[in-house]
Amino acid sequence: MSDGQSNRPRTAEDPTKAILSKSGLNEKYLCDYVLNVASGCSHGCSFCYVPSTPNIRTRGEMLKEQVDVDDGQEEWGDYVLYRDDIPERLESKLSRKRTWRETEGGQGIVGISFHTDAFMDPRAADISSKTIQILGDYEKYTRVLTRNPKLANHYQHSFEQARGYVTIGTSVPTLDEDAVSAIEQNAPPVESRLDGLKEFADAGFPTFISLSPTYPSIDSRDQMETLLKKVATADPDVIFHEPINQRGANFQMTVDAAWNHSHDELGSQLAKIRDRDAWRRYSLKHHAWVQELGDKHDLPVHLWPDSRLMSIADGAVEAWLRKWYDRQSPEPFAERPTPSTPMPKIPDEVGSLSL
Ligand code: SF4
Repeated sequence: MSDGQSNRPRTAEDPTKAILSKSGLNEKYLCDYVLNVASGCSHGCSFCYVPSTPNIRTRGEMLKEQVDVDDGQEEWGDYVLYRDDIPERLESKLSRKRTWRETEGGQGIVGISFHTDAFMDPRAADISSKTIQILGDYEKYTRVLTRNPKLANHYQHSFEQARGYVTIGTSVPTLDEDAVSAIEQNAPPVESRLDGLKEFADAGFPTFISLSPTYPSIDSRDQMETLLKKVATADPDVIFHEPINQRGANFQMTVDAAWNHSHDELGSQLAKIRDRDAWRRYSLKHHAWVQELGDKHDLPVHLWPDSRLMSIADGAVEAWLRKWYDRQSPEPFAERPTPSTPMPKIPDEVGSLSL
């Protein structure tokens, strides 16, 4: 993990040849394919699940050889292997490809880059912008996720060429910039993410915001309301919500990152939800607040309940979460049908839960 002293990761070219991979993110109403412009991500978010995926975990030898990485998880944020040849290879692949996956949740969309950040730096941005243009040329819907939409603003000409086929979004976990800089060590501030995204919305592009993952330091409905009202100023078409996941080694690294950056309060709140029941209450409460406040302010919210949260819930709570899991997101992108039913009713027992 980056020590925050240097924002310059070790870099090289990624020798991988695969381009488009089928994705399970259709279950979150995001995409059917993913395409990553790099392996590794210079933002180095402590909670990031990517270093625990096979793309990093099973490639130890290559990482050692290319960028002298001993532990892909521990050193996450300190290495990036770019895939400069993606545009050329993608063009060749699309010119030959005759079938295209289109599920109800994924709508045939290609997600760029869910295992890195599409616009983390100018080199990644060059690859991403060319990729967006090519996908637009082939009339493929594209979903771009970045914590750096300010840099993406400089590439609006590429989005323009793909207009009608591209949406862009960013992640906002909290408005507490100190907490964000402790946990998402090299990522741009939240204010810059929202400003950058608003420029896309003002230029008429569809946009989305992911409240992901909301930190447990948001411990009142009023704080959640402040967060939602603020993100609404960027005028997104949909606001996804996901609590933090407390599984895996990266969760302890997230707790440590908060303490190492002297954010004791956040560290304690994160440590508290190591306990499964505390995590369950925090997750349910955050979901309920987002739904209530979305309803109150007429915002297009969509909850992403975790499969483990559903597995430890029962009765009305489980039914509520399942309805969200099965519900279309309210996003008029890629010809997606908007949900025809009201949001599922929040069970009384969730309303009365305490944190
Ligand atoms: S920006 Fe995304 S991919 Fe990069 S470290 Fe953060 S969570 Fe992981």
